[in-house]
Order: sequence, then C-alpha cells, then structure tokens
Amino acid sequence: MADIVLDKVTKAFPDGTLAVQELNLEIADGEFLILVGPSGCGKSTTLNMIAGLEDITSGELRIDGQRVNDKAPRDRDIAMVFQSYALYPNMTVRENMAFPLKLAKLSKEEIDRKVDEAAKVLELTALLDRKPANLSGGQRQRVAMGRAIVRSPKAFLMDEPLSNLDAKLRVQMRTVVSRLQKKLGTTTVYVTHDQTEAMTLGDRVVIMRAGAVQQVGEPQQLYDHPNNLFVAGFIGSPSMNFFPATVASGRLTTALGDFPLGERMRGQVAEHSGDLIVGIRPEHFEDASLIEDSIRQGGAEFSATADLVESMGSDKYVYFTIEGEKASAAELEELAADMGSGDLPSGGSNLVCRFSAESRVKEGDTAKVWVNLEKIHLFDPSDGRNIT
Ligand code: ATP
Repeated sequence: MADIVLDKVTKAFPDGTLAVQELNLEIADGEFLILVGPSGCGKSTTLNMIAGLEDITSGELRIDGQRVNDKAPRDRDIAMVFQSYALYPNMTVRENMAFPLKLAKLSKEEIDRKVDEAAKVLELTALLDRKPANLSGGQRQRVAMGRAIVRSPKAFLMDEPLSNLDAKLRVQMRTVVSRLQKKLGTTTVYVTHDQTEAMTLGDRVVIMRAGAVQQVGEPQQLYDHPNNLFVAGFIGSPSMNFFPATVASGRLTTALGDFPLGERMRGQVAEHSGDLIVGIRPEHFEDASLIEDSIRQGGAEFSATADLVESMGSDKYVYFTIEGEKASAAELEELAADMGSGDLPSGGSNLVCRFSAESRVKEGDTAKVWVNLEKIHLFDPSDGRNIT
C-alpha cells in the first residue's frame, strides 16, 4: 500500500496542449479517490502520469515519499484496470489471472493460491476454466480486476473500468468495486466522467475541469457546498437549476419571484448587491400544497405551469417553463458548453423540481411551488464563486 502525492504536476503535450496544470493532490494510504470531470479535462492524463505511461513535464510525483518521476511503470508496483478488459482470448480465466504472476516467476503453488484467493473475492471460482468469449461483460471486467489484484500491488489505477457495461450491470459492478476496495484496503485512484459513479464510490472526489482541480472533498460535502458554478452544475442529477438574480435590500429577485432572504444569507450577500446567479437543487422545491406550516416560513411560493411530469415511483420530477430573462452570464454559458447539451438547464427558462410522490400536479396545471430559501446557493457571475 502507498500514499501518492502530486506536487504541482503539469503535463504539456508536444503540440502545446496543456492537459494538466500544476496539479496538487495528496492521496492517503488506503484511500479510494475519484477523479471526475467532463471529457478532455485531464483525468486520464493524470492517471497515466501516476502509472508512468506518460512523462511528467514539470512537478513531482511521490509514492511513499519517494520521487518516482523517472521510474519505469513496471518498477512502480501499481496495477491498472482499463475500460477495455484486454483479456487474452486464448487463455482461460485462471490463465489470464495467473499471467502477471507467471511473469513475476512465482512458483506454481503460489500462483494457484493467489488466483484461487482472488477468484473467491470476485466470485469467479466457478468460471476459472472458461475462456473470455464465454463470459458476460461484467464477468470479464471482474477477471480484469482479478488480474490486477493477484499481484497485491501498492495501488490500483482504474480508468473508466465500468463504462463498457450496460446501465444495470454498471450499478452492480459499482458495489463489487466498492466492496473489493474496502476489503483489500489498497490505495485506489479511479477515473470516471460519471458523477453518479463518483458520488457513490469514493472516499473523496476530485472534480477537474480544463486540466485544473475545481474542488476536492467528500461526496456529500461537494454536493452540499460546491465551491463554484461548475461544481454545482456538475454534481447532482438532474442538475441544479440556475437563474440570474439581483439582490437589493435583503430581497432576491429572480424569474421565479421576489423573495426575502434569511438573516444568514443577507449577511453573506452584504457586499454583493447587484447581479448574481442563484442555484437551487430540484429537491429544494416542493408542491406547496404538501408543505406543513411549521416549515413553510423557511421558504417562499410562486406559481408556474407544469410542462412535463415524470413519475419515478418514490418521487416526481416536474418540469416547468419559467418566463423571463434567460441567464446570460458568460460563466453559465461556458459551463453549459462544457457539460454537453442536455446536461444543464439552459439557464433561466427551464426549471426541474423534485416533488413528493403524493403531489397531484399534472401536465398543464398551474401549480403553487414552494422553494426552500435556506438551501439556495448564490454565485458571483464574474468568476462563478459560491458566495453562500
Ligand atoms: P475523457 O473523459 O474524454 O477520456 P480525460 O479527462 O481523460 O477525457 P485526457 O485524455 O487526459 O482527458 O486529455 C486531456 C487533454 O489532453 C485533452 O485536451 C486531450 O485532447 C489532450 N491530449 C491527450 N493526449 C494527447 C496527446 N497525445 N497529444 C496532445 N494532446 C493530448
């Protein structure tokens, strides 16, 4: 096991692309760390530098306190698991898993013992004599993981290992990976572009954008206290709703309505009167008819007409079109472009709310919507910083 430190690590490709810029990260021994961010943000490059598959342009990479910038990949004692399983088709599961141990010239008994042990952990014992062609995608990915764990490496690096699996299998495999990591306690760095995977798997999550870290923290912390617009929009599904807003005399004016701010928030925005962006998560709205009087005063109500109601069983997603100004803040537009179309509300025209299943709101209804004002976020449009 190992701790891994990236100290101002930078990667510039020969064509001038600055893929990673002065990245600082301290990964604790035994930690499960997730790197997440949109396509091209530098996740794989970071992982490849840790593995030694990509040179580091400047900065220092330390494993267990030792500088390893110039150490060959095979000397770093790290195992990598990729999206493509890269199993040998002519070898059985046992032979595939035994392969790295054979290369390391272990005795036959030792190889058998290690493979049997790994197969047990990954529930592959019954499949040891099969060839990869006769396995399901999930089973193949488990064999690829088995091949990584037999070596008992210092650390695992995983690059989107589940992205070739269908949605249901991906959810199942998430639990397998999570249990495996806890059982082995091996330092693991896991790359994904899927924020749900990031939120459910890791001890800590690093959110990257354009080669730089946006925020590092425990999943819940990132969800509840995003540093900036980007993190706020990236984490959570459906995404946080954003609207342009102005603050004056302790009141917040948005396309949703004109609301009084609570005392805490009034203090936070004191030096920010003027234009802001308000961010509100779908679950911080509710069908106003279901709100009990005891909590009603922590929020405000507005009316809107429902375009679409999606019943999820346990709750309902209700989509509204809000008339009024669209968010035009450059930061918000850039953010929407970064996230790819469809991921982010277009800013100020669409609103998605998560209502309780008991809500009777139907498509076409004009409903009274309650918003929890204690849970809103306010962002500075000039730099996207969360000021609440
Ligand atoms: P994805 O989720 O799409 O795999 P990523 O976050 O892993 O993306 P990287 O593969 O690390 O991103 O790429 C980071 C940036 O470096 C991108 O702009 C990419 O185009 C660029 N890049 C990657 N490899 C090279 C290369 N060999 N030469 C030049 N630029 C490269």
